[in-house]
Amino acid sequence: MRAAPATTVVDFAPPAIGPEEVAAVVAALQSGWLSTGPRVKAFEEQFAAYVGARHAVALNSCTAALHLSLLVSGVESGDEVITTPLTFCATANTIVHSGATPVFADIDPLTWNIDPSAVAAAVTARTRAFIPVHYAGRPVDVAALRAIASRHQAVVIEDAAHCVEGRVDGDRIGHTGDLTCFSFYATKNLTTGEGGMLTTDSDAWADEARRLGLHGMSRDAWARYSRRGTALYDVVAPGFKYNMPDLMAAIGLQQLARLEERLARREAIWRRYDEALADLPLTRPAPVEANQRHARHLYTVLVEPESGWQRDDLASALRERGIVTSVHFRAVHLFTYYAERFGLRRGMFPNAERVSDCTLSLPLSAAMPDAHVEAVIDAVRQLVRRIR
Ligand SMILES: *Cc1c(COP(=O)(O)O)cnc(C)c1O
Repeated sequence: MRAAPATTVVDFAPPAIGPEEVAAVVAALQSGWLSTGPRVKAFEEQFAAYVGARHAVALNSCTAALHLSLLVSGVESGDEVITTPLTFCATANTIVHSGATPVFADIDPLTWNIDPSAVAAAVTARTRAFIPVHYAGRPVDVAALRAIASRHQAVVIEDAAHCVEGRVDGDRIGHTGDLTCFSFYATKNLTTGEGGMLTTDSDAWADEARRLGLHGMSRDAWARYSRRGTALYDVVAPGFKYNMPDLMAAIGLQQLARLEERLARREAIWRRYDEALADLPLTRPAPVEANQRHARHLYTVLVEPESGWQRDDLASALRERGIVTSVHFRAVHLFTYYAERFGLRRGMFPNAERVSDCTLSLPLSAAMPDAHVEAVIDAVRQLVRRIR
């Protein structure tokens, strides 16, 4: 039986954009300076201060930040890089771009973050780096990973695409690993439409990332693009075109100013989901540990067989009621390229596979009105109650 067409449509992650962002873009357009310039410089400085890192390099994506992090830390062909199968494909793709081999380590069944003991077991003489992902906004145990990394001279590159506001023991994500990569994609907690940031305390790595992110040119982006800059530059490596334009940074500056306030709104929605869905046969996100601040990026539940539903059927039934959900993530090792190229198959990472099969992300955004939150709860309660 089909439900009547929904009157309310609840988007999955509508961006939280206020009049300040709109005004900032207009001002940037009218300034006559569209590409990398003064707004990027200000955004980098303010972002570095926010996360407590010495350097922040603004880029056009988190994918670019991951790629450059691998390159500046010396990862190359023949090396191995350990990451989680429960991530967006970009995490693993950039390892392939660097020439290294991605090696997956399973997740913890409760936190859904990479399991440090699985990482330790996956280390070989060729391991050069780890890329943990702060899944859904929950901080990874970076200290445990750093302890393992230091025994093997490996670098810890954090994929913090979900975790710009995260903290562990009061330390801010962006300052916990060797290099940290953030995403400002449209659905992320801080968005510039498309964009990313690399943070590090290393002067040498930050310099190298700037150079490789702008064609391998020897002068930095600011010097080249400033009105005073000269066109005198050398090319010291075949770099990439990864710089962030000022138009994007204009949005980022405004988003940064409202980041904490928007986190508070997502925290309130999270608590409401937690209480309203508590009695349903769905696995909700684990409670947050006392020493951590969760960035509340994704509210993901596991739709397991005992709920009476297959995840994809529940997603379709919600869609018919106007509720748009998403899946984070289908395990990377099961995608054709990874399975065929690296000989990976179902059964190798059972914890990640269970999440991959059952996870469903409910709508979550600071731009969601209460009525939309209640519409999601009503629809989930109506459907999941009814064992089919
Ligand atoms: C979104 C995302 C990325 C990629 O970010 P882009 O800015 O789109 O390149 C990488 N890793 C994870 C875990 C993500 O969710």
